[in-house]
Amino acid sequence: MILDSFSLSGKVAIVTGARTGLGQGMAVGLAEAGADLVIVNRTPMPETEDVIKGLGRKCVPIVADLSSLDPIPEIINRTLAEFGKIDILVNNAGIIRRAPSMEFTEKDWDDVINVNLKTVFFLSQAAAREMAKNSGGKIINIASMLSFQGGILVPSYSASKGGIASLTKTLANEWSKHNINVNAIAPGYMATNNTKPIRDDEERNRSILERIPAGRWGLPEDLKGAVVFLASKASDYVNGHILCVDGGWLAR
Ligand code: NAD
Repeated sequence: MILDSFSLSGKVAIVTGARTGLGQGMAVGLAEAGADLVIVNRTPMPETEDVIKGLGRKCVPIVADLSSLDPIPEIINRTLAEFGKIDILVNNAGIIRRAPSMEFTEKDWDDVINVNLKTVFFLSQAAAREMAKNSGGKIINIASMLSFQGGILVPSYSASKGGIASLTKTLANEWSKHNINVNAIAPGYMATNNTKPIRDDEERNRSILERIPAGRWGLPEDLKGAVVFLASKASDYVNGHILCVDGGWLAR
């Protein structure tokens, strides 16, 4: 039956950046659908771990800084040691730096590109090598409205998210033959730490809200349906797609 194809029972998912915000919401959504989780973050994630375990799912937390490639072998090896396989990878960890492009520093460029794009590629590569040995898997990248639009004062962020959209399609082209689906979710304007500065700016907040047809900021819970769909058998013929969960922002 169709609803059974959305079940993640028996699946193993890695979610990066799962301490707060969208990563936490998606990790909990995957656990609610039946998956066991490996959650990765630069700082400990006790709250996320408690919620997942409270749902009766297994949860292995790994504290790791994804600004370099160094933690990738540990993430893969611990997942295999605990669960013997990797079915789902959600590349969610991401950072943003805001400054006028005339003054933007090399550090703010490199820091953002390293976490948001470089590590995403090499962690995907390492996970895909394991998925290809089994019956395939699902890789879900987190894109952005700035995968489609330029943004303001965020040159490295918009470049990284434009890159994520391209990378998603490239990897889908190459890895679909291994039964690995690579897709992305492009969240709209979501109420998390990442967007606190613009929500605190009364004028930006008002102008953003005026443009969102749904009339509100998105919440981490709003991504649960999309991530479960893209992680499940229900999306087996969806490849290289960027699913916007934006309250209609791009339709405006
Ligand atoms: P957030 O700051 O609440 O969460 C980001 C998480 O990633 C945190 O748990 C943080 O500790 C972790 N993280 C950051 N750098 C890391 C590193 N070097 N190593 C390991 N973990 C690290 O932000 P969020 O809004 O939930 O963002 C999650 C993702 O969604 C990001 O990729 C972001 O670009 C994307 N996104 C957010 C929005 C939005 O409106 N909030 C919109 C579009 C896309």
